[in-house]
Amino acid sequence: MGFEVVLGQSRVVKYLKRAIQKNRIAHAYLFVGPQGVGKTLVAKLLAAQVMGHNCNGCLVCRSCKSILWGNHPDLLTVTPLNKEVTIEQIRSLREEILNPPFESPTRFILVQYAHKMTLEASNAFLKVLEEPNKGNVFILESPDEGLLLPTIVSRCVKLQFGPISKEEIAFFLREKYDLLPDEAQTLAAVSNGSIKKAVQFMEKGLLKRRAEIFYNHTEALKRTLGEGAFGPHDIIIPKDVDPSDYLFLLLTWYRDLIASAVGVESQLFFHQDFRTKLKELSKGAQLHLVLSIPLEIERARQDMGKEANLGLLMGELFLAFKDGLGI
Ligand SMILES: [Zn+2]
Repeated sequence: MGFEVVLGQSRVVKYLKRAIQKNRIAHAYLFVGPQGVGKTLVAKLLAAQVMGHNCNGCLVCRSCKSILWGNHPDLLTVTPLNKEVTIEQIRSLREEILNPPFESPTRFILVQYAHKMTLEASNAFLKVLEEPNKGNVFILESPDEGLLLPTIVSRCVKLQFGPISKEEIAFFLREKYDLLPDEAQTLAAVSNGSIKKAVQFMEKGLLKRRAEIFYNHTEALKRTLGEGAFGPHDIIIPKDVDPSDYLFLLLTWYRDLIASAVGVESQLFFHQDFRTKLKELSKGAQLHLVLSIPLEIERARQDMGKEANLGLLMGELFLAFKDGLGI
């Protein structure tokens, strides 16, 4: 029971199922993989099945629910405070696990964003791992094992989580949110294999805002006459849309435009439901100029993180868009 709710990750699930069957649960696991692909869910499902509430991880009893909700007394979660996991957090964890578990023979300690441990915290955590820890199972989550101390990595059983396939994500979204096939396909395409990202995209309303955003984008391009002649960026980017999300949408839009211009099948587009508009736009496009646009957008998104002047960034981009589209 239990692991059926996990999308993708069949290798990890198979490995853990076998470990449970053989009663060979490791002392520490390192779950490596991108955000939003199910690392925390798998950790909780493993905990539910191992904690021994005589339900085999039914997911409906009180214990299973409290594990899934993260409020079971024998499931400890360590997560960054102010972007870091501090040595104080690890010290208090060490104190806490000196006591026996409350309800279960096994206690699970989930360290989320384990790579956010400071060096002192990492060294303290290494000591915790090295101490006799009967009855404690540690699960560390990180996008990349290279970000952790090698001495920590070597004490963990490493399980690699991959991105989830577009088909699986689209199917999940259609079933759960009752979306149109094209909408589910778009979310799956922009999610980059992360269910979390797909759902966030939808919850921010970006799916439904695309028509307005793309229309305003081309209209704004038509209005701009050249350097310095475009309006302030807040006229172009709707006030309630995060500029970084806006640029991400444009990035996917221009990738589709290039794909359309070179004759890629529209099933492979991010925005399949805009194929007609894309085809029309791609006819006037200067392909050799459009090809560099995704790179320029990526660069602008990175600069945005460094608090560069948004108006200037957008101004430069707009000239590139205008030239590329031949507007
Ligand atoms: Zn249960």
